[in-house]
Amino acid sequence: MANPHAGDTPHWEAAFDYYYQDQVEAAFAEVTESGVGEGADLLRWYRVIEAEFVTRKKSRTIDVTPWLQMEFVPDQLMGLEEELAQRTLAACDEVAQRIGWSHGSQTLLSILASETEAPWAANPYGYCVSKEPYEKICLPNYLVDDPLEFGQAVAHEYAHVISTNIADEYAPRWVEEAVSVLVERRFDRGTWSDFKADRTRWLSERELEFALTDRTEDEEARKEEIWNAYQQAGWIGRYLAELKGENSLGAFLREIANESPVANILRSFRGQDRTDRALRQVYGVSKRELFDRAYDWMCQASVFSD
Ligand SMILES: [Zn+2]
Repeated sequence: MANPHAGDTPHWEAAFDYYYQDQVEAAFAEVTESGVGEGADLLRWYRVIEAEFVTRKKSRTIDVTPWLQMEFVPDQLMGLEEELAQRTLAACDEVAQRIGWSHGSQTLLSILASETEAPWAANPYGYCVSKEPYEKICLPNYLVDDPLEFGQAVAHEYAHVISTNIADEYAPRWVEEAVSVLVERRFDRGTWSDFKADRTRWLSERELEFALTDRTEDEEARKEEIWNAYQQAGWIGRYLAELKGENSLGAFLREIANESPVANILRSFRGQDRTDRALRQVYGVSKRELFDRAYDWMCQASVFSD
């Protein structure tokens, strides 16, 4: 994670320790001591820590349910906190029901202060981080103006909370995004047409994982590539839901985390990775077949045409 050539490593190590305990004030103190050097990755982290710290200084946190809290800057919410809390809960309920999950993982939804500059190029609607006290969902403040988009963003990020917990952090990013983009209930018609017109835009599993996780280059310059990767993941999620229903995604994530001796033996005997074995188990396809078939299905899909 930390780049030894950029910034001061001991300070960054301490900063990450604090950050993952959500002690963002102490984390920010460490990174301002250190600086970021020339690493784009550290600059990104600097902005994330700064945004969460600036928010914390001015925020109030309320309990929505025993497992859900909401953090916000009171004078930036125009008195909408109660409505946004209810929208958050409704979105979480819907996603849990669709994927087949019971709430329980402690979750903090933080609506970041409007003046913060987080890396929104790669995470245009927010991001989710597993911290020690809770799963923390951070959303940009501008979403407050659009209740529909706010609910979609909550759905996307809460699906990450669910995926991470069910799959025990073993799910590759493309699987998590397949679930998260599916539950948003929105898709981009332009990208859909581009995929259909040009098969080479449709990435292989390895390429897709790379596009979603590589943070070594400037994210602003890769914005379109990252956007397309999210769209492709969404189509894969829709295809899996089409095969066996949305609830099958919960079963798929559970199978990825399967630690039974038989699952482990089969994995090493057949040389399959977790995701490939779980795919065959739940859907009867390999990763390669999934990517090919999802493409063909997407080309013919008509349900999303209006
Ligand atoms: Zn996501």
